[in-house]
Amino acid sequence: MELKKTPPAPPAVLHQGEFWFTELHAPGTGITFRVKQVLYFARTPFQEIALVETSDMGRALFLDGTVQLTERDEFIYHEMMVHVPLCIHPRPRRVLIVGGGDGGCVREALRHPEVEEVTLVEIDGEVVDCCRKHLPLTASRLDDPRVRVLIEDGVKFMKRSRGAFDVIIVDSTDPVGMAGPLTREGFFRAARRALTPQGLYAAQSQGPIFDGKEIGRIARTARKAFRHVSHFLAPAPTYPGGLWSFILAARGARNPAALRPRPLPRGEKTRYYSAGVHRAAFVLPPFVRDFIQ
Ligand code: SAM
Repeated sequence: MELKKTPPAPPAVLHQGEFWFTELHAPGTGITFRVKQVLYFARTPFQEIALVETSDMGRALFLDGTVQLTERDEFIYHEMMVHVPLCIHPRPRRVLIVGGGDGGCVREALRHPEVEEVTLVEIDGEVVDCCRKHLPLTASRLDDPRVRVLIEDGVKFMKRSRGAFDVIIVDSTDPVGMAGPLTREGFFRAARRALTPQGLYAAQSQGPIFDGKEIGRIARTARKAFRHVSHFLAPAPTYPGGLWSFILAARGARNPAALRPRPLPRGEKTRYYSAGVHRAAFVLPPFVRDFIQ
């Protein structure tokens, strides 16, 4: 039977006295959370922030109605985003994180004793403030003495940085609006200049189930600035399609996907990342390879 056109599902509904929130991933597909409590809600000059307590996923951060993280699964994304570049850099002393105001990438970067300084450049100070208050699991290390938090547009910051960072990680919202320029050629070129000669660049690059064309566009654009752009994948249970892609690029001529990861520092236990997962993450299924070629 052919389905009749239906109106889009309401993003938030009261059902039998319970509050349910849906993020649509496609016109007729989405993810739904039962919200026990709204802990923080604000409209900033940049976006709408909602931090809620869900019934099954712990606390969750939404920006403009899209899931940024949930306490239950954020370790996968943050461990992969950070340990993949940091475990292959010979000496990652200075790390730049663009976006990432929830502090998850900062937390992971500080697990590497070689890291002397982490600079976090987040455009929206309210994200940092509300995560400090309501998301201690991710934001707890933002006050570490090795961390410098700057409230600024990452695009402007990158333009004036030269040879300053061993690893740059871009943990941004979807590439629209203020995050759009973070996937343009000018930004990739500026990021390359901001790296030290052995520097590495990693960024989230959307999911292949719903946004394959976007992965292809980001790959082609990044290749204009970096000689080698590799891709790796990780599950992202609460992001659209459940599978997420990342790019990894090097300032120099090395192909970063071919580098063997060092073991994690002694005593640092990860829940998702391991040397084996690192290597496997670069094996791309044919449908993903088709998007980026
Ligand atoms: N892991 C998340 C995801 O993929 O959905 C991203 C989490 S993090 C909260 C994203 C952050 O990027 C937001 O707090 C947003 O304010 C920030 N952001 C977006 N555009 C930015 C820009 N141009 N410069 C700096 N930060 C930016």
